[in-house]
Amino acid sequence: MSSTSMRTHQCGELRVEHIGQTVALAGWVGRRREHGERLAFVDIRDHTGITQCVVDNDVDVRSEYVVRITGVVRARPEGTVNPGLPTGEVEVGECAVEVLRTAVAPPFPIDARADDVDENLRLQHRYLDLRRERMQKNLRIRAAVNAATRKAMERQDFVEVETPMLVPSTPEGAREFLVPSRKEPGSFYALPQSPQLFKQLLMVGGVDRYYQIARCLRDEDLRADRQYEFMQLDMEMSFVNQDDVLDAVGEAVLDSAEAVSGERPLPIERITWHDAMNRFGIDKPDLRFGMELVDLTDAFGSTEFKAFAGAVSIKGIRVAGKAADFGRNQLDKLTDKAKSIGAKGLVWIKVTAEGLDSPVAKFLSESEQAEITSRLEAQAGDLLLIVADEWMTACEVLGTLRNDLGRPPVHEGPLRFVWVVEFPLFIGVDKESGRPKPGHHPFTTPHPDDVDKMISDPMSVRSIAYDLVLNGWELGSGSIRIHEPELQKKVFAVLGITDEQADRKFGFFLNPFKYGAPPHGGFGLGLDRLVAILAGEENIREVIAFPKTQSGADPMTNSPVEGDPKQLAELGLRVLPRVD
Ligand code: ASP
Repeated sequence: MSSTSMRTHQCGELRVEHIGQTVALAGWVGRRREHGERLAFVDIRDHTGITQCVVDNDVDVRSEYVVRITGVVRARPEGTVNPGLPTGEVEVGECAVEVLRTAVAPPFPIDARADDVDENLRLQHRYLDLRRERMQKNLRIRAAVNAATRKAMERQDFVEVETPMLVPSTPEGAREFLVPSRKEPGSFYALPQSPQLFKQLLMVGGVDRYYQIARCLRDEDLRADRQYEFMQLDMEMSFVNQDDVLDAVGEAVLDSAEAVSGERPLPIERITWHDAMNRFGIDKPDLRFGMELVDLTDAFGSTEFKAFAGAVSIKGIRVAGKAADFGRNQLDKLTDKAKSIGAKGLVWIKVTAEGLDSPVAKFLSESEQAEITSRLEAQAGDLLLIVADEWMTACEVLGTLRNDLGRPPVHEGPLRFVWVVEFPLFIGVDKESGRPKPGHHPFTTPHPDDVDKMISDPMSVRSIAYDLVLNGWELGSGSIRIHEPELQKKVFAVLGITDEQADRKFGFFLNPFKYGAPPHGGFGLGLDRLVAILAGEENIREVIAFPKTQSGADPMTNSPVEGDPKQLAELGLRVLPRVD
């Protein structure tokens, strides 16, 4: 497989069983070490690894020269075997070296030392960075995930369909990239945030089961787990309920994890959004560690302590054995953090052998102190953190502190996938209109048991929407869609979208439903994030061949670039000074 007309083997392939064979290797020159007067050791490298070649020292090869070396495989002399290298028991001798291409010295070493080089420099010369073992490994993990995903979807009778890149605006909430129309100056396409509308129309079109490894684009600020463009396993299926979708996506995800790690993770567990918030204080819970939020509200029913009296929700977490690590300064920082998330304050308690040590201890009765200790299972040396507030605030504040204080690096320990189900149909309120905002997108089905609360108490309505979470990272979202126009109207009414607006914005999408839309639902799974976790990377840039920097630039191609005046004129565009 690996041999070509130029080589018999790849550079990471040779072992003792090849001893005596004449081989030809092709690749880049890695390290070179002079060996006595006449000889030099030259490492030849390709994506599979390196092989040590013994060459005459008058052979003029330097770092990153492209070479073809023919020679005979032999055992390394005793004492020079390198057990850390898969090819470390052999070397190639009697070498003839053919220089295919010379090279200038690279701006950073093409090995693990480049991990510490400024990322901008790595991205400026990404083609060199990609030669490194880490990047080669990551690209191959990515390819394995894509392949396993495709296989799983094909096996389950999904049909791959491509959807357009030039689309109208879609209502998924993210800022979009606009593409000016040359033929109709002043009109724009958008680049797709996701194939959402098209995949639903494929269901109206009778495709039944669609998937695509789709490129999605969102003009959002970049982070460790976010790029302008990302890849998504996008899927949609007809005549299904939630379980069918979760099973189909679960197959693809577990197959991918197995393809990379060789081990099939446990079946994916489920938790409702309410339980996730209540127990972990976040809608993407990291189940690899405990520190669950504990409810203390009813222990303070008749408390004298003002900060707790009458609070809707009182919750606490136990930071085991950490009391001694938190001096006044650190405790103040935790309090500031809690306030920045919206809490009125944060109560901290250090547990000692003598009892509870806290500025508020004197306001708490003996029985209240006993309740705190027993419910949080507190032991001497623990730090306890308590928030009394609205339920959501108490959850969010403690959820953030739990993650800050307990969360391991994203790739450490087991893979803990979890489905978070029953998201609220609406989350938060739009500042301008005062209307509820969709939790997912406006085509998400409300939970059938909650439809009658849509007008009277919209914020309590659950939806058939679900997220997949892995080790505290949101991998993706999906929902069962509304396929009845009457129900769609009700949701639009809550969102304050009039019939006329709905028709203008989504008419092309909703009118086809009148011709008979099947019940359907689907999911979008962020492949970059999945690959990053499986590759043990904290940042998705490490698993993308040509990513943008955190500030959205590409130092390799120097983009974005200023628009050419002629091009702008053709598009009917004029650039105004920037207003921030
Ligand atoms: N379009 C959604 C997203 O990209 C996924 C879905 O609802 O299927 O998050």
